[in-house]
Amino acid sequence: MCYAIPGKIISISKDGKTATIQYFGELRNAHIIGAAVSIGDYVYAQGGIVVGKISETEALPILKLWKTKFLELKKVDEELASIPENISSLLQKAEAGDEEPLTKEEMRDVLNIKDETELNSLYQTANHIRKKRLDNACCVHGIIEFSNYCMQNCLYCGIRCDNKKITRYRMSEEEILQAVDYAVDRLGFKALVLQSGEDSYYTDEMLISIVKKIREKHGILIFMSIGERSKECYIKLYGAGAYGVLIRFETSNSKLYARLRPGKKLDDRLELIRWLKSNGFVVATGFLIGLPGQTKEDIVNDVLLTKSIVPDMYSFGPFIPHQETPLFAAPSSQIAEVLKVIALSRFVDQESKILVTTALETFSHDAKKAGLLAGANSLMINLTPEKYRKHYDLYPGKTGLETENWKPNKEIQETIKLLESLGRAPTDLGV
Ligand code: SF4
Repeated sequence: MCYAIPGKIISISKDGKTATIQYFGELRNAHIIGAAVSIGDYVYAQGGIVVGKISETEALPILKLWKTKFLELKKVDEELASIPENISSLLQKAEAGDEEPLTKEEMRDVLNIKDETELNSLYQTANHIRKKRLDNACCVHGIIEFSNYCMQNCLYCGIRCDNKKITRYRMSEEEILQAVDYAVDRLGFKALVLQSGEDSYYTDEMLISIVKKIREKHGILIFMSIGERSKECYIKLYGAGAYGVLIRFETSNSKLYARLRPGKKLDDRLELIRWLKSNGFVVATGFLIGLPGQTKEDIVNDVLLTKSIVPDMYSFGPFIPHQETPLFAAPSSQIAEVLKVIALSRFVDQESKILVTTALETFSHDAKKAGLLAGANSLMINLTPEKYRKHYDLYPGKTGLETENWKPNKEIQETIKLLESLGRAPTDLGV
């Protein structure tokens, strides 16, 4: 399966930094970083970056295959994403977009919706906006969790350093490279997240060596999700070819942040995230929903803070209490809370990419579908090797652990089926 459709470069900006790429008559722009490309080349773009070139001989059959399929999928999406009838004035205003943005009070009103019919209208309106603004492309990223060691002690996290009951693991460079080869060569992924706790065992040099080796072999977008590292480290990772970073700020409430992340300051985190963004990284960021002590006002501020960062992708996780953390007795967040935040984010930042995180799937088998129908347009599939994935125990109820013989292919086939049923093309066309 392929998670990107090749496009043809029809022009390059004078400074050589931006390519305009044509996909079935539609034009998208993508940054050119470290790739030698010319007008007329067929390329793959991910997250707004040209990640690889493909020969015309290889590209044309893929495009032929996709052309009919892409148009068929669009029709299905169009039917599913129609605007609901008789929507409230609040949803009418939300649908209208940036000309008259929702006030904070109205955003709170969205989060307070409880009535089932109103909730359905809310999700449908958000889905309609997604379709209207971004069409049916849905990027599918893979995630490889390469170490569950962490030197931090966040109160909500199952791999915090004080959890002595967890079986810790670290993947060797060779194991990481093998997992990446499998994800790219066998499963067809074009964008991968390499995630770990904050683990200083992996020196900057080790991480850089891994990224370089991946990029020498594969034209893919690499996201690092390794927590707070020095800016020098991030610069070197970028130089090696890791252009993306997944780093959440967790909460916009600085007091709550300090309480939940001992010894850490929200300002430092935000400074790093903003610095990454202003230095050309593709940034995925967001927060946790349902944290103990978090108010609706906090969530409104969380959404607005995410928007202010101008992220390339929104990433929200539900708070799910873990038995071996100080928050074990706190109530879990609910799926409706997360869906409302997805919809609200679609209202306030209509052209954003919004991820359905793997954590959302712990609520039900339908959660992925529900997230996509509430305004999301991006998915993550866990590709951590089976012998390790059960130990990356951030929260209880993680999916994919139920069977002894979990295989990513099955989850991928199910995801492709789901996307097809919703009329979404499992691809990233860039921006
Ligand atoms: S949230 Fe991140 S930094 Fe905090 S303990 Fe978990 S893995 Fe470590």
